[in-house]
Amino acid sequence: MARIKLVVFDADDVLFSSLSDCYLGQVTLPVKRVDENTVIDTAGCKIILDPETRPVLQELRKKRIHVSLDSTNKLREANEIIRLLDLDKIFEHSKINFNDKGNNILEILQDFEREDHLKISPDEVMFIDDVEEFCEDVKRALGGRGVVLQKGKDINHLSELFRFL
Ligand SMILES: [Mg+2]
Repeated sequence: MARIKLVVFDADDVLFSSLSDCYLGQVTLPVKRVDENTVIDTAGCKIILDPETRPVLQELRKKRIHVSLDSTNKLREANEIIRLLDLDKIFEHSKINFNDKGNNILEILQDFEREDHLKISPDEVMFIDDVEEFCEDVKRALGGRGVVLQKGKDINHLSELFRFL
């Protein structure tokens, strides 16, 4: 198995806790940070980062594995939450839009190659999402290569991804 060079994450119910009141794109700006892993919007809607997210991201970066986001969300709202939680520097070439997640992944790979001169092949990619349909879209885009994990099915906790590296 090829060594994984890039892990691409879904946001809602993967990096962010399912105990959140709403999805990232559903908050009403402005949002404010209330503790290390929580932001709240003007309507009192809380968004909570999964407690495993920070340690997992740090461990991946320590292993020199790149991380990116492939999220179906409104860009401005999602970006603001990520920035407030001090996570904006860690993700590279993220795609936050309503496009096909498989196409997004291929664009992320193109961005790495074009902007960083870093060639990452499909079998060096890991993708994690809680929605089966999105996992299938990405599997198709990667031509059945790489590692696609469905949270809630293949893994229950983010830290389990290290078993598949
Ligand atoms: Mg999700």
